[in-house]
Amino acid sequence: MALDLHGLIERGLIAPDRARGLQRVADQFAVALTDDIAELIDPNDPVDPIAAQFLPREAELDVDLHDRADPIGDHRWSPVPGIVHRYPDRVLLKPVLVCPVYCRFCFRREQVGGDDGMLPAEALDRAFTYIEQHPDIWEVIITGGDPFVLSPRRLAELVRRLEAVPHVAVIRFHTRVPIAEPRRIAPPLVAALQSEKAIYVVIHANHPRELTPAVREAVGRLVKAGIPTLAQSVLLRGVNDNPEVLEALFRALVAIRVKPYYLHHPDLAPGTAHFRLGIEEGQRLVAGLRGRVSGLCQPTYVLDIPGGFGKVPVAAGYTEPRKNGGWIVRDAAGGEHPYPPPGDDTVS
Ligand SMILES: *Cc1c(COP(=O)(O)O)cnc(C)c1O
Ligand code: SF4
Repeated sequence: MALDLHGLIERGLIAPDRARGLQRVADQFAVALTDDIAELIDPNDPVDPIAAQFLPREAELDVDLHDRADPIGDHRWSPVPGIVHRYPDRVLLKPVLVCPVYCRFCFRREQVGGDDGMLPAEALDRAFTYIEQHPDIWEVIITGGDPFVLSPRRLAELVRRLEAVPHVAVIRFHTRVPIAEPRRIAPPLVAALQSEKAIYVVIHANHPRELTPAVREAVGRLVKAGIPTLAQSVLLRGVNDNPEVLEALFRALVAIRVKPYYLHHPDLAPGTAHFRLGIEEGQRLVAGLRGRVSGLCQPTYVLDIPGGFGKVPVAAGYTEPRKNGGWIVRDAAGGEHPYPPPGDDTVS
């Protein structure tokens, strides 16, 4: 059973005297937690990183000058409902707009959590027709919302329909269910992901405390079934804006065979300014991992450019061009080293 605002008050995770103010937040942005997540919250810790991600706060009503309802411009690239086609070789397919938990920093918070959770059957048919008619689509990324809230039967049907499209080679799921409701990653769901085509699962995880024994077992079931698993994390003030936490998160993921894929700089979603940190601070945190922590533990630090211009890496560079056509290359400790231009026969 998902916990709503009242459930959170009953459970002692939110003080009753905040009910009225937080109801205003809940009216605007969906609130839901699973028991698994609620159990992770320490109600006596005012800066608990799990609470920060999932418990509504009054600060969400503060509108920042830079907030945008559609921070990464999905709308602009949506040719038919349920499809976002921004890059030539891949599309997002959004069959469902609900999640088992609602992250307070969600970049799609204006879209998720409404009453119309499912994409209607006719719209889903049209989305598949779009995929079928665009031979450049090599990969379909099933996201939402969270596709793993679907029943195994529905998931299997999505997979089967994509298997039937010859030009689709890769099917990728983006999900928080392995963290939010790990028992859902049960044999029937795993069986629904068996395919002749490559299926990848990308798990959204932001703090090492999210990786409980139940989560590790859930991930283990995916891995044992031969499904490559990656992680995406969001860099968040008050959650993981700290070198020890990032290191622990990425090490813990790699140790359960999950490759950190992206570390997202936070998007300009409405009412989320309190989560944002500067890109320079993000660059410092990411640079702190380089050279000290295994390369397997280094995600690409990316920003989804506001307005729909796509994701680009935003880590600080290690190279500087020289006048002679060569380069200065900085090592992880800041030392600078020359690298010659191609075909150079001088010694510098
Ligand atoms: C993030 C995103 C993708 C996936 O990008 P990758 O860099 O392949 O992970 C695809 N389409 C849209 C619209 C996206 O926002
Ligand atoms: S799981 Fe993803 S889509 Fe769902 S609320 Fe969290 S960030 Fe948003």
